[in-house]
Amino acid sequence: MTYNVAEIRNQFPILTQKVYKKPLIYLDNAATTQKPDVVIQSLETYYSKYNANIHRGVHFLSSHCTDATESARKTVQKFINAAHPHEIIFTRGTTEAINLVAKTFGQIELKKGDKVLVTRMEHHSNIVPWQMACEQYGAELCVVEIDKQGTIDLNSYEKALNENVKIAAFTHISNTLGTINDVKKMVEMAHSQDIPVLIDGAQAIQHTHVDVQDLDADFYVFSGHKVYAPTGIGVLYGKEKWLEKLPPWEGGGEMIDRVSFEKTTYNTLPFKFEAGTPNYIGAIALGVALDYIQNIGIDSIKAHEEELLRYATERISEINDLEIIGTAEHKSSVLSFIVKNIHPYDIGVLLDKTGIAVRTGNHCTQPLHDWYNISGTVRASFAMYNTKSEIDYFIEKLDFVLNMLQ
Ligand code: PLP
Repeated sequence: MTYNVAEIRNQFPILTQKVYKKPLIYLDNAATTQKPDVVIQSLETYYSKYNANIHRGVHFLSSHCTDATESARKTVQKFINAAHPHEIIFTRGTTEAINLVAKTFGQIELKKGDKVLVTRMEHHSNIVPWQMACEQYGAELCVVEIDKQGTIDLNSYEKALNENVKIAAFTHISNTLGTINDVKKMVEMAHSQDIPVLIDGAQAIQHTHVDVQDLDADFYVFSGHKVYAPTGIGVLYGKEKWLEKLPPWEGGGEMIDRVSFEKTTYNTLPFKFEAGTPNYIGAIALGVALDYIQNIGIDSIKAHEEELLRYATERISEINDLEIIGTAEHKSSVLSFIVKNIHPYDIGVLLDKTGIAVRTGNHCTQPLHDWYNISGTVRASFAMYNTKSEIDYFIEKLDFVLNMLQ
C-alpha cells in the first residue's frame, strides 16, 4: 500500500488551522505530536459514554473502562513486543517513568562508591532523576562522551562499563541531535558485564520499530503525547524480574493487597506501581493511537520521515552561515541548527509569524549544549504528516527571515 500523506493529514484536524492567517506548518513534533481524529474521538466517547473509575466497580461502566484499560495495556505490550502485559506500567510519561526507576532502583541497588552511567546527549529527564538518586545514596553519575557529529563513542562506553556501574541509562534517539544510537549493541555490552539498562524511547517509539525483547532492554520508557496520544499518559516497560524486585514507589489505593495500621502488603504487577486512580482514559486513547500507527505501518512512517529528513538536510545545507548540530550517520526526524551571529530565539519568533512552528533553546539538553559551547539551537522536527512542500515553505521563509536578521 502506498503512503498517502494527504489522507493522513486529513485525519489530524489541527493541521488545517491557520495561525496569523497563514497555514500552520507544524515542525515541533519532537516536543509533542498532534492527535488524529480517532484519538480525539476516543477521549470524547469515553468521557461522554463510559466514564467510571476502574478496577473497583461492579457496575457496567466501571467494567467497561477496566476492560478497555487492560486491553490498551495489551496493545502496548504487543506494540513493543513485551513478554507480558504486566510488564507495562502506565505512568504520566517518560519523566515519571525514569523517576520511578531511579528512585526504586536507587533504594535497593545504589550505595556509596557505585556508579550510574548516562551519556552526554541525554534529556534532563534521564539525567536529573539519576543525579538525585546518586546524591541520596552516595553514588556517582558518570558520563559517556560523544564525537562532534553527535555519535556516542562506543569504545569509551565499553571502557566506562565496570563492576562499579550499577545501571546504564541512555536515549534511543536524541531529541536534539536526532542521532539513532545503536542501543542493541549498547545493551549487549552492558549485559556482558551484568549491568542492567534503561532506554529512553521518548523520541524513538513514534519513528521506528521497537522490540524490547529483541533489544533485551531491562527498562524502556516513552510518553504517549509524542506518539500521537494524549498528554499525561506514558509507559514504563520493565522486565518482570526487575519489576518484581523493585519496591513500590508511591503508596495509596490500587497498589495494595491488604492494609492495616500495622502492616501493608502490596498488589501484584502491574498495579504495585500504579497507585491511585490512573489516567485510564488516556491509557485507552494511547491504545487507539498505537493501533492507528500499526494500521499505517511503522516501517512506512519511518521511510516517509527518513525521506523528509534527507530532503530537509539537503535543502537547509544550501543556506550560508548555517551549521547543523547533529550530523551522525544514523539520524531520525530532527534537524537542529545555528546560524552565525543570529540568536535562535529571533529565528523562531520570526518563523512563527509566517505560520511555522519550530522550537528554539536547549531542548532540555543543557550539558549537550555546553559541550558544543552553544546556548541553543533552532530545531525543526518531523512527523508522519509532514510533507516536502512544507519543507520547501520552511526553507523559503527561513531564508527570508535570515536575510532580515543579517
Ligand atoms: N527524553 C527525551 C529524549 C525527550 O525528548 C523528552 C521530551 O522531550 C523526554 C525524555 C521527556 O518526556 P516527557 O516530558 O513527556 O516526560
